[in-house]
Amino acid sequence: MPNLNFMTPEQAAEIRERFGTPVYVYDERSLRLAAESLLDFPHAYGLTARYAMKACSNAAILKFFDRFGLQFDASSGFECERAFQAGIDPEKISLSSQELADDFTRLLEKGIHFNACSLLQIERFGQRFPGHEIGLRFNPGLGSGSTNRTNTGGPAASFGIWHEHLEKIRELVRKFDLVVNLIHTHIGSGSDPALWQRAAGLSLDLVREFPHVRTLNLGGGFKVGRMPGEPSSDLSVVGQPVKAAFIQLYEETGRKIHLELEPGTYLMANAGSILTTVRDIVDTGQKGYKFLKLDTGMNDILRPSLYGAQHPIVLISGPGQRGEQRENYAVVGHCCESGDLLTPQLGESELLAPREMDNAVVGDLCVIEGTGAYCSSLAASNYNSFPQSPEVLLQENGEPRLIRQRQTLDQILQNEV
Ligand SMILES: *Cc1c(COP(=O)(O)O)cnc(C)c1O
Repeated sequence: MPNLNFMTPEQAAEIRERFGTPVYVYDERSLRLAAESLLDFPHAYGLTARYAMKACSNAAILKFFDRFGLQFDASSGFECERAFQAGIDPEKISLSSQELADDFTRLLEKGIHFNACSLLQIERFGQRFPGHEIGLRFNPGLGSGSTNRTNTGGPAASFGIWHEHLEKIRELVRKFDLVVNLIHTHIGSGSDPALWQRAAGLSLDLVREFPHVRTLNLGGGFKVGRMPGEPSSDLSVVGQPVKAAFIQLYEETGRKIHLELEPGTYLMANAGSILTTVRDIVDTGQKGYKFLKLDTGMNDILRPSLYGAQHPIVLISGPGQRGEQRENYAVVGHCCESGDLLTPQLGESELLAPREMDNAVVGDLCVIEGTGAYCSSLAASNYNSFPQSPEVLLQENGEPRLIRQRQTLDQILQNEV
């Protein structure tokens, strides 16, 4: 029987029996261990650990991390509202957003923290809240992600204020009498640890430019291996030189800077899997491919189509149905879209990379792993009118708990007039 990240094959079969497929499953124990290791990140003068809620925004996940002492990073006004509705204290939410909602003042008056991500955002904040403290998100001039699509720093990324615009920033800060109390950077998802550390150094240089800064938020981006043999960041290693740099800054300037981190991937990626069923097996002849078609696809998991991301795909075969031989399958989703591909070449969303797997039979249960982050929250929802899939939390006592129901067709249609 195959080894899964956190479920036994029997638990997977039980969850399919109770909730049907496709279904997202999140594992409480994995979430707890990831939160604990984040809270252990080396720091010199205090740490605030946030969860980047765009990775997976279900209220049950937010409440779980809230209980463990994490705070939150929101990427839009709607995410702030969603966190409020989950009962999260606004004081625990920090907003770094590409688009500032027209009613952002209402969110700020509730007590959320705000990082301006452009010169215009500083201006709008300053007009409304002159004399107040403000955080600034910078693009430190350096980015790193597992793919170009997940790189959010450097000249080709629109995130944050370009690091050379210090004079323009100072002008706005003077104009509105603002106090810059926090510097923020986030250079990408799946960053190379060496580059992440370099970006931390560049960010500390920005702290030197603003004498009232008390906190440096270094974003998220820690690389998590999903495929066998793919390395994961070891936070205790990544954090040591960063801690040393904070101490050095203190020795030079007498300033003790508080550290903030806000990963999404690190907390969620391997704590979630999608259970799915093999629906069909087709081939394109001798020189072609053998395709495994699943009852999930880009409407539940877009990362392979969007990034050429690879996820483990594990077949849990029923007993006694087949011979020993293995097969090369190109695994595809159920959407009418040739890009709905679950086994792309790494970083090449348009190219098939068939994988050797157990011999499959229609009806087999299949588990796509490493799908806790940026899957249920980042999907081509309702494409082909497939409903949003349910979400289940596998509790530490082994009991699966439904935390989102399967969407109905009526719910898909409810806003049509
Ligand atoms: C997406 C995002 C994160 C989390 O990134 P991960 O790669 O999932 O850790 C953190 N901070 C900001 C501002 C983000 O946009």
